[in-house]
Amino acid sequence: MAKLTFLGAAGCVTGSKYLLEAGGKRLLVDCGLFQGTSELKDRNWKPLPIDPKTIDYAVLTHAHLDHTGWLPVLVRDGYRGPIFANPATIELTEILLKDSAHLQEEETKQAWKKKYSRHEEPRSLYTPEDVDPVLQQLKTMPRSGGFDISPEFHVASFDAGHILGSSSLELTINEGGKKIVVVFSGDIGRYGQPILKEPTTPPSSADVLICESTYGDREHQDGNPEELLAQIVNRVVKRGGSIVIPAFAIGRTQTFMYYLRQLEDQQRIPRVPVYVDSPMALSATDLYMKHKEDHDLEFAREEGSDGKGDPLSVHEFHLTRSAEESKAINKVKTPCIIISASGMVSGGRVLHHLALRLPDAKNAVILAGFQAEGTRGRALQEGAKTLNLFGQAVPVCAEIVEMGQFSAHAGKSELLRWLSGFPATPKQTYLTHGEPTAAQALQGAIQEKFRWEAAWARYLDTVPLGT
Ligand SMILES: [Zn+2]
Repeated sequence: MAKLTFLGAAGCVTGSKYLLEAGGKRLLVDCGLFQGTSELKDRNWKPLPIDPKTIDYAVLTHAHLDHTGWLPVLVRDGYRGPIFANPATIELTEILLKDSAHLQEEETKQAWKKKYSRHEEPRSLYTPEDVDPVLQQLKTMPRSGGFDISPEFHVASFDAGHILGSSSLELTINEGGKKIVVVFSGDIGRYGQPILKEPTTPPSSADVLICESTYGDREHQDGNPEELLAQIVNRVVKRGGSIVIPAFAIGRTQTFMYYLRQLEDQQRIPRVPVYVDSPMALSATDLYMKHKEDHDLEFAREEGSDGKGDPLSVHEFHLTRSAEESKAINKVKTPCIIISASGMVSGGRVLHHLALRLPDAKNAVILAGFQAEGTRGRALQEGAKTLNLFGQAVPVCAEIVEMGQFSAHAGKSELLRWLSGFPATPKQTYLTHGEPTAAQALQGAIQEKFRWEAAWARYLDTVPLGT
């Protein structure tokens, strides 16, 4: 009988990994890293309860590290099968994994040097050498429509509107002539946002639904994002401060860039330098031009006679790649905007930017993404007076601004809107990718709105499918 095991994103928002077993074959959906509390991070170091050599196929919903960041360990531990993903996801996964390995190395070196790790002998979970074999195993599948992974598994992809390439997957399991349709929501994005297309609910009658619940207990703040951004930029620049935005170079960064560019062109904000600081810094414009199927932007490379330019690039735009270039930003004393990973301040170069800029009340930090339990981002969100950076308690004097309007995740009512697209009630629904309060709140809302029973996924639980 077909079954499903929750190997991650059960009771938390990270570590997405789902194992489907049918007809003697094993398919892994997503292979994410656990992030947040030390208890969660410790799971990254433990082997899977099943031998990776016995997994036959893998497929990805999107490139974020909490869905792909454990692939180097899976492959190092013996997984040799294909990893299917659409072209944009493959390209982004390559960028993200290399970035992740590189940053882990930088951090491990720092931790040895400055002796601030909780481990006696700090080491990286993986290195750039572990990433290369993963890239060899990535195999292209179509952006939309159906695709046969094997005789047992057929997959169809639907735009999830979350990041470039993000999909909801409808998997049809064929076991001895019996078909079971399992829908994985992936991460669901926002309706009515610029750049990305709208989330699309798979139009099938799902037998089993695995649905994310990140913001299952919350709506995003109201308010026009453009206006709010203009206010904060003007406020901070006027007092001579700078803004740090923890975010990865691709994704939300482009939403910020898009609004900043518009505000500059409308002369609603002054032109200030914007630094996108990442070892993998690259022109996001190239990526968006290559994957036109994912968004509805129109590009003009150079400022044209119509006055339009590249909508994803502000006038004073700097990409910084090397560690030296990154450190050089510390010398910038005039107002600027620095966008740097990681989005939850759990690591990466944003740490040194914050160490320098947090103690000064002139500066501001914009938190736009989900901040998981146990991360420094969550501590800032909850009003921490100091932040532990490089083994030191750094005072938090800068203004901390939460801007949920820029979130890449559906809020509660958007999740319900996505769910309302199903033509019939799934026989089994499991809520994943949410902290317990969020999953519980969404469970209640689904019951109330649709009279439909949903259960929360439990870590390492196995459930029979199509019963
Ligand atoms: Zn995501």
